[in-house]
Amino acid sequence: MTATIIDGKQLSAQKRSELAQEVVRIREGGVLPKLVVILVGDNPASLSYIRGKQKAAEEIGVGFKLEHFPESFSENELLDIIEHYNQNDEYHGILVQLPLPEHINETAVIEKISPLKDVDGFHPINVGRMMIGQETFLPCTPAGIVEMIKSVGVEIAGKNVVVVGRSNIVGKPVGQLLLNEHATVTYCHSKTDDLTSYTKGADILVAAVGRANFIKGQDIKPGAVVIDVGVNRLDTGKLCGDVVFDEAKEVASYITPVPGGVGPMTITMLAHNTVQSAKQFLLTK
Ligand code: NDP
Repeated sequence: MTATIIDGKQLSAQKRSELAQEVVRIREGGVLPKLVVILVGDNPASLSYIRGKQKAAEEIGVGFKLEHFPESFSENELLDIIEHYNQNDEYHGILVQLPLPEHINETAVIEKISPLKDVDGFHPINVGRMMIGQETFLPCTPAGIVEMIKSVGVEIAGKNVVVVGRSNIVGKPVGQLLLNEHATVTYCHSKTDDLTSYTKGADILVAAVGRANFIKGQDIKPGAVVIDVGVNRLDTGKLCGDVVFDEAKEVASYITPVPGGVGPMTITMLAHNTVQSAKQFLLTK
């Protein structure tokens, strides 16, 4: 079997063109959807992710502003900036780029962002809403994964889903969203005993570990859908996922590549959330 690739770039391009049309309609209503990204420090990976976010915003006609502060920026200064954008009606989305420098409390920062502008979907109020299946900003990577699975017509209801990884930004929410879609979900993590016994039973396997070539072909059930979230940089400078792609594609039915899989969809879902926020603002104007 050779798996069909779930092409995140292609799916993103399609979604971005739909979003661009929505933005035209919102602008006709007198609102320009706008996103502010706040960065503290000069983490090169963060700068690269932000460039991707800016490109997506520009592509669909969403206004984009980068607020870039030095590493020495204090937590209180950052909280003040967030409050400024909470109050500023011109901005519909606020994203604070993670990770933050160690002297800044990430929880305090996330909780400071208005849940109405929390386009990353990390605020506890939005996490709670997601958990009970209410409409809200869904976290971008997990929401993108669900879109990718649906895009190839795979039925999620009733499937055995195994999520390897339980972080608050990827593992836990992707499992929750797939549970909301009526899958049977198992979470695995660093304390899981006999990991392979779980991965081999997965109809849909989500790898969100952050370790290159961690999941091998022999760990995968024949015909499974494999979603590789990992982004790992090899010594050669090449990017790779958590899954040994060449082995997995001989076993799986569908697989996401790295790069060009979950990454582009994550950014597209951020644009989606910003557009939805502006739409909501227009309705209440
Ligand atoms: P974290 O480091 O926060 O979480 C990693 C998870 O993997 C943890 O739950 C950890 O378990 C688990 N884990 C670690 N070692 C093992 C092991 N030996 N066996 C089983 N589980 C293990 O990472 P993130 O969730 O933030 O990100 C995961 C990957 O996804 C990274 O490569 C990241 O770069 C990438 N990523 C990609 C995005 C995209 O858009 N493509 C977006 C966000 C992330 P435990 O909880 O027990 O420590």
